[in-house]
Amino acid sequence: MDLDIVFLGTSGSVPTARRGLAGTLVRRGGDRILFDCGEGTQRQLLRSTVGLVELPDVFLTHYHADHYLGLPGMLKTFALRGREVPLTVYGPPGLVDLFTVLRRIFGKLTYEVDLRELRPGEGSDRGDYRVFAFAVEHGVASNGYCLAENPRPGRFDVQTARSLGVPEGPLFGCLQAGEAVDLPAGGTVVPEQVLGPPRAGRKIVLAGDTRPAAEVLDVAREADVLVHEATFASEEQERADETLHATATGAAELARAAGVKMLALTHLSNRYFGPEIAREARTVFAETVVPRDFDIIDVRFPERGGPRLVKGGALGRREEAEAHGSDGAAGSGEESRGGRGDPDDPELGRDRVGARAGRRPASDPTR
Ligand SMILES: [Zn+2]
Ligand SMILES: [Zn+2]
Repeated sequence: MDLDIVFLGTSGSVPTARRGLAGTLVRRGGDRILFDCGEGTQRQLLRSTVGLVELPDVFLTHYHADHYLGLPGMLKTFALRGREVPLTVYGPPGLVDLFTVLRRIFGKLTYEVDLRELRPGEGSDRGDYRVFAFAVEHGVASNGYCLAENPRPGRFDVQTARSLGVPEGPLFGCLQAGEAVDLPAGGTVVPEQVLGPPRAGRKIVLAGDTRPAAEVLDVAREADVLVHEATFASEEQERADETLHATATGAAELARAAGVKMLALTHLSNRYFGPEIAREARTVFAETVVPRDFDIIDVRFPERGGPRLVKGGALGRREEAEAHGSDGAAGSGEESRGGRGDPDDPELGRDRVGARAGRRPASDPTR
């Protein structure tokens, strides 16, 4: 089962030329779940290989403008296309109030919008996985979200099955599905004889905006991927504390304590490009990436190598060509598709929008 995370917007508070506002798509099999919908998210989807698909589910982390302003526009576009598939929007308490205002913007829709306010622990059961809310610390009603797969059956031991006299074919499938089988030569084999212990499912944690919080640490234990904000570097620790945001160091310390496999930092203040945030975090937690818009994290099962960053993995062909044309440099990493590799740091893309180090952000960092 494929599982990945598509980063559609990785800037905090205000967009930059290279980074859009919060929007993260998780794809699992045929499911598409959008987390946050900052201004410009529908266009980011259009520019990506995903396209503006008729998303059935949108989860909002909180109601600061950089996380939801893209939603009314996207709902309107769906209506103009005559969408009929219902849409469910999830969010912390306050969602119904928010929509009484938003409805005046997007007007009448051609499809149902169902609103579900979620408190910590509540969520959406989706068969072999679930998405649930957890508490974070951001000073306003906010949810983080965890996508957790059910445990998987243990590994099927072909050698043992053969040695027990199970003929290859349909009976293998029955045992893998947890059923006992009668052998043609007599006797019975039960699944426990040929299956290893159940294996953990994968877990993705999207913390949204928050200072480093005990609740996030709890839910993120042993997660495959923790997507955490790093609005600031530690030089701005004081501002991070005042505004209930995290620094790269703070997020990395939490990731290390939680024992996650990969930490993905996002929601960068516009004074940072990414490499400096990554460098700071990696001194604490080596398995840190700072995705750019249109990067993907492919969340593979541990036995297939675990999570990996695929740079520019969701870039459409035209965008890819333009990226090559404007940068004039090919990507350096073998997984890079966007032609944006930074020769100084093969793990990261390069932001070429002028040097802005030292400039104070124009944004309101409390958002
Ligand atoms: Zn924000
Ligand atoms: Zn916020």
